[in-house]
Amino acid sequence: MRVAVIGTGYVGVVTGVSAALDGHDVVCLDIVDEKVQSLNSGKAPFYEPGLDAVIKKLVKAGKLRASTSVVSEVARSDISFICVGTPSKKDGTADLSYIKAAGKAIGKALKKHKGYHVVVMKSTVPPGTTHNTLVPILVTYSDRLPITFGVCMNPEFLREGSALADAAKPDRIVIGELNARSGKVLLEFYKKKKCPILRMNLTAAEMVKYVSNSFLATKIAFSNEMANLCDQFGIEVYDVMEAVGLDYRINPHFLRAGAGFGGSCFPKDVSALAKVAKRANVRTRILEAVLHQNEEQPLRVIDMAEHELGSLSGKEIAILGLTFKPGTDDVRFSRAAPMIEGLLVMGAHVTVYDPKGMDNFKKEFHFDIKYAKDPQDALLDKDAVIFQTEWPEFRKIPATWYAKLMRRPLVIDGRRTVDPAKLHKEGVKYLAIGAGNQ
Ligand code: NAD
Repeated sequence: MRVAVIGTGYVGVVTGVSAALDGHDVVCLDIVDEKVQSLNSGKAPFYEPGLDAVIKKLVKAGKLRASTSVVSEVARSDISFICVGTPSKKDGTADLSYIKAAGKAIGKALKKHKGYHVVVMKSTVPPGTTHNTLVPILVTYSDRLPITFGVCMNPEFLREGSALADAAKPDRIVIGELNARSGKVLLEFYKKKKCPILRMNLTAAEMVKYVSNSFLATKIAFSNEMANLCDQFGIEVYDVMEAVGLDYRINPHFLRAGAGFGGSCFPKDVSALAKVAKRANVRTRILEAVLHQNEEQPLRVIDMAEHELGSLSGKEIAILGLTFKPGTDDVRFSRAAPMIEGLLVMGAHVTVYDPKGMDNFKKEFHFDIKYAKDPQDALLDKDAVIFQTEWPEFRKIPATWYAKLMRRPLVIDGRRTVDPAKLHKEGVKYLAIGAGNQ
């Protein structure tokens, strides 16, 4: 199939690459020329392990290319995927302006298109958006009835850091369809995938994505709450959750307590779903509690630092890890931001380091902090170091460095990043959320 992907961010590029690997001819479209040029030169416009090598091969083979000519490229394709951002507005609702702009461009393309084309919403949108917002825009700008073209909603479940593997072998594919003909085309698009494919209406498919993310966020927030409780009893929450997770009704995933969840999806999707419910006059106490828990959780490391160091005024604190998880350069909703904000309010001086996320963090947040050139530089003369992202390379920091470089060898681990036994041998004090060791 001739495939057009609108939006060359994390989801768009991975969708395009995965489609090209399945044998489709793909054009990735964006309004930002730099991203298009980057892709055409064989490089993703962001960091994702293994992606650049695959892009290079596909571009060379002529299966993948990029362009800014959205209307003319969609007009030449059989199927288009909307993969633009749906960020949170200040009030927590989803900003649909990028969806509307993409819809207008596709509508204009459909006016020129002679045959049957299916428009697929891949972006995460509130229930009802595809049917009530996208379809009317497509009809207005194409001057066609939505039986002469198809519409689907196909939520994306990839995880940054393992996006290629997730796209190659999804757990399931959800096809929300305006009608059976639309869904059949998307089914054909996915014919190489060997996983359960579930077909439903557009709004149910939108809901699947919000419910999945809200449930996962709830598991994390719940584990974090239990960690805080375990700390009061001197219990290791990871021991507790290992036993709890062996119950097949619960499963062991997403029970790792820490400093809260970030990223471009969980915080914004839980918040958007809570707003959708509020508008519908449905109370969602669980979603509200999850959001509150997640706002407070990163501040636990500040409490721990204060407990050990007394007043934080004038103290030198290093934060290692700015991205919301390892394996990405994405810092959206990173829990490093509320940590830094809290430390600065308490009068501490903050130095940060991250192997991939420093440039994005500088662009997104404007804190008065120092950016270290490497972990060694970050540790120098510090009163405490806080781990905010469990990058594998942080595990390789020699335990002797903490003892030798820091003014006071205190490690506060928000993500279970380093081995406490090695640190103890060097006389380094180690505290972790939920380890019951404060
Ligand atoms: P992103 O911000 O990385 O990328 C969006 C891209 O769309 C940008 O490159 C932007 O320039 C481009 N764009 C905006 N308006 C455009 C237009 N009118 N025409 C062409 N391009 C346009 O976003 P993302 O992280 O890829 O997320 C996209 C959607 O997928 C969101 O709804 C998100 O919630 C959802 N999602 C994201 C992930 C993830 O892990 N990032 C996972 C599942 C679902």
